[in-house]
Amino acid sequence: MGNDVVENAGQNAGKTASRDEAKELSAFAAARRVAAQYLYPYRWHILTAVAANIVVGAVGPALPFLLQQTIDLLFVADPSTDLKIDVPFADSGLTEDMSFGSSMDVLPYIAGAAALIMVVRAFATYISNIFMATMSQNMIAALQRNLFQKLVWSDLGWVQQTHSGRFISIFLNDVTRLESAMSQTIVNMTRHLIMLVGLLAYMIYLDWLLTILATCVGPLIVVFLRRIGKRTRKATTKNLNETATLSSLISEALKGIRVVKAYGQESHETDRAQATILKVLEHRMKAVRARAAASPLTEAFSGLGFAAVIYYAGYQGGTGAMTSGEFMGFGSALLLAYQPLKAVANQGTVMQEGAAAASRIFPVLDEKAEIADMPGAAPLKVSSGEIRFENVSFHYRDGTEALHAVDIDVPHGKTVALVGPSGAGKSTILNLVPRFYDASHGRVLIDGQHVRDVTLSSLRDASALVTQEPFLFDDTIRANIAYGVPDTSQEAIEAAARAAAAHEFILALKDGYDTVVGEGGLKLSGGQRQRIAIARAMLKNAPILLLDEATSSLDTASEQQVQEALSTLMKGRTTLVIAHRLSTIMHADRIYVIDGGRVLEQGTHSELLAKGGLYAELYQTQFAQDDGGETQTPADVPLKGTEQAAAGE
Ligand code: ATP
Repeated sequence: MGNDVVENAGQNAGKTASRDEAKELSAFAAARRVAAQYLYPYRWHILTAVAANIVVGAVGPALPFLLQQTIDLLFVADPSTDLKIDVPFADSGLTEDMSFGSSMDVLPYIAGAAALIMVVRAFATYISNIFMATMSQNMIAALQRNLFQKLVWSDLGWVQQTHSGRFISIFLNDVTRLESAMSQTIVNMTRHLIMLVGLLAYMIYLDWLLTILATCVGPLIVVFLRRIGKRTRKATTKNLNETATLSSLISEALKGIRVVKAYGQESHETDRAQATILKVLEHRMKAVRARAAASPLTEAFSGLGFAAVIYYAGYQGGTGAMTSGEFMGFGSALLLAYQPLKAVANQGTVMQEGAAAASRIFPVLDEKAEIADMPGAAPLKVSSGEIRFENVSFHYRDGTEALHAVDIDVPHGKTVALVGPSGAGKSTILNLVPRFYDASHGRVLIDGQHVRDVTLSSLRDASALVTQEPFLFDDTIRANIAYGVPDTSQEAIEAAARAAAAHEFILALKDGYDTVVGEGGLKLSGGQRQRIAIARAMLKNAPILLLDEATSSLDTASEQQVQEALSTLMKGRTTLVIAHRLSTIMHADRIYVIDGGRVLEQGTHSELLAKGGLYAELYQTQFAQDDGGETQTPADVPLKGTEQAAAGE
């Protein structure tokens, strides 16, 4: 680590599959939780949509009924005779038989009723769609907002376990998948279910035995669709996992595009992506095949029911027990029932897909930040800004012991430097001050207050952090300097930029302070990015400065400018600095030499040289290197082992 204290998320994609093997949620549990947390606030929208769906579903049986009446009255009966129209369930008292002079007179009423039914159905469908869309889009937004909030408030250690690409995939793919499952569920369980029940009721009214014959294959269909549902869930889970891997690969290839090109790895990266794309394709096709089988299966089984209907109804027609109108009404009701039957029967699959997505989303939402305010935490009171590490040990989540019984003292207004080979634990020490991590043992104190006992916001307000590879947002220079201090004036921003030796180069840019710096600040040079970051810290004006000193990767001119800016920034502040070059810390008030997570030596530059230990050895090594060099002073040479880290590799 070390090349970037904070911004080292996106580590390697392969190690992070554990997040995807999240605990499987039952479809019902997932639906209940989504309903309680994300649908309940939109209950009035849902109720309106459900009411509209009830109308759509309820008018469904009216069409076969009108067809039945038309055939019986106009095609079979003598059109000149007096007639009565049988209204289903008339004995319920809800409707009365309607009498007409001749069957021709009834024609306009039937046609009008058909038109009215279609208009009512269309309007109700529109209302349902609009309210459902409002609910579901708001559900996506709420889920994404909660996920984002979770990410930024979560512990650094937890966030870093998972590749950023996977998080993005959860944000975009899983959330949409869950939303689609919930919307379909509501439509299936209202519109389609009511229509199915209405059509079945009408069919029973016409002939209950025929209805039993037609629907006796229903249980078989349900059994087969349940099997398909399980297969779809498996394929959906794998598909979402592989899509997340693909997302990580894309993000990594783009971030590391220079390395990819420099090492000629374009084909290798394409092959890697291709392998994942093929896996996504394979799982998608499995899900598509399983889903595609659902319709033909339902159709094939319905065919059996239909055959039984034709046989039995034909027989009934032959004996005069059934009119042609009733046969047509029954047949068309059966055909109309096919679509809602398919939707309702497929509901299990839909819920399984939603549960697969929910099983990946909820673990993120449920992650509890361990680094949070303790009950009764008071704001940090900074008097002098003195930092003290008392017997501090620390191990990372994976068990790596990074620090062992470390004691460090950074007195008020002094500069204390950390020196040591790569992997010694310097960045870890820096990370413990603003509580990016909590010490496993021992205490970190600021002005005598344990950092765990104070509020996080006051703790982080008290320190400014400048990392080796400062992160700039794809925004204006002004916004980047004012990051964290939003209501600041232009004068204050310029003053900070001047102190950071950045004002001149900013003015030389075409858009000055309004220049948008591009992704990660790529439109600026390394030294310019550093100076913007220093200006940001300058504007924050915190009493404590945490510095992962980063001048070694800059050219001499930039290094000098950045060094000057840093000196201005350090004035009057308590500074803990990781040194990658001895030249920058020779005048530090105290130097701690860290090795293997322990403090090996401490003292001033001259004391440590006189001691003849690791520091002196490092210094001598630099002398030896200097003998072979032309212009460097010994202290300019990066410390042995830190060169790579300093280069950001
Ligand atoms: P450098 O000078 O190269 O930046 P450093 O002295 O800053 O190194 P640290 O980054 O503090 O060293 O790392 C100390 C030890 O902790 C190393 O062994 C490293 O591999 C390990 N380590 C660092 N970050 C993590 C992490 N997130 N998870 C697990 N181990 C880590």
